[in-house]
Amino acid sequence: MFFKDIVGQEGIKDRLIKSVQQGRIPHAQLFVGPMGTGKLPLAIAYAQYIMCENRGETDSCGVCHSCKKISKLVHPDLHFVYPAKSSEKKDADAENDYDDTISAWREQILSNPYFSEADWYAQVGLANKQGVISTAKASEVIRKLMLKSFESDYKVMIIWLPERMNVQSSNKLLKLIEEPPEKTVFLLVSENPNAIIKTILSRTQQIMIPPVSRESIALALTDRLSVTPEKAHDISRLANGSWYNAINLLNAKPGDYFQHYSTLMRLCYKRDFKGLIDWSQEVAGEFEREELKQFLAYSLKLTRESMVARVGLSNISYIVGEESGFVQNFSPYISMNAIQEVSDEFSSAYEHISQNGNPQIVLSHMAVGMARFISQKPED
Ligand SMILES: [Zn+2]
Repeated sequence: MFFKDIVGQEGIKDRLIKSVQQGRIPHAQLFVGPMGTGKLPLAIAYAQYIMCENRGETDSCGVCHSCKKISKLVHPDLHFVYPAKSSEKKDADAENDYDDTISAWREQILSNPYFSEADWYAQVGLANKQGVISTAKASEVIRKLMLKSFESDYKVMIIWLPERMNVQSSNKLLKLIEEPPEKTVFLLVSENPNAIIKTILSRTQQIMIPPVSRESIALALTDRLSVTPEKAHDISRLANGSWYNAINLLNAKPGDYFQHYSTLMRLCYKRDFKGLIDWSQEVAGEFEREELKQFLAYSLKLTRESMVARVGLSNISYIVGEESGFVQNFSPYISMNAIQEVSDEFSSAYEHISQNGNPQIVLSHMAVGMARFISQKPED
């Protein structure tokens, strides 16, 4: 992984590169930020740069022994810890367990390093459960890091989602972070640092990874994926600083999203409860869970745009084309208060879907719930 593979984040890249060039690599760093900003690929590119035998001014060389191995994620001094299914087995068997998922892990990163926790669980057959970083895993880490490095000056340990460590794992790891073996760098990558035990937090240097700028997202879409500038512009505004969202928006069929959204609003307007139940059934059947979340996020966004349209600020509105026309026509029927209520319904449905709620139940509850907020005649 190169720094140049990561979308945007130039400020962070500079900072990481300087830390290596000035020989001041903090031994435990915590990358914190929202999903889709490139925290994990940044950590891997940083590790590659640290270990590169012939690093350049702005990136690793890509051709040395170390870079070649890291490009396949098989460098013996680059270690990964990530949540997986918890093992009932004893420590002795844990190694085999680990090997089960390491190839899936490599495959996931090499095919697309911007992925969600849910994507990862789906990849390893944990679709309806949350993974953990087990105590066995923590012991394994300690064993590995106690060894002398094999090929590189440095050993790097990347811990993805340390918030998934239980207390025992955290304590084991804490000891290691407090008294690290020589030339060992810990890179923790977290989306929810509040869930990490305080003692670990206080031992790490936190690096906030900000949302990816709109310009960087638009540029990457046009340069890497040959998206038209107009479309890249629209996606970059909706992606909310997340390259992950940008890719999903690109692959999604927004026409379909819009279709479903406008149908929902019309059915609400007509108080057509049977229609709303049919709608829920159809949408639940059409989308996989992740896509359903995307649809709900899209709907939430569009609803909020109605608020902007309603207060007469449509010239700063982020939507275009048929969506904009719909919002303009529909917004008189929805009061400011109702917009809030409808938005809340979308958010709460999003949350329930994220927590593995039954899609059809969640959607019908949401649809029927929001019908009562839509007026039958224009509001003042
Ligand atoms: Zn190199």
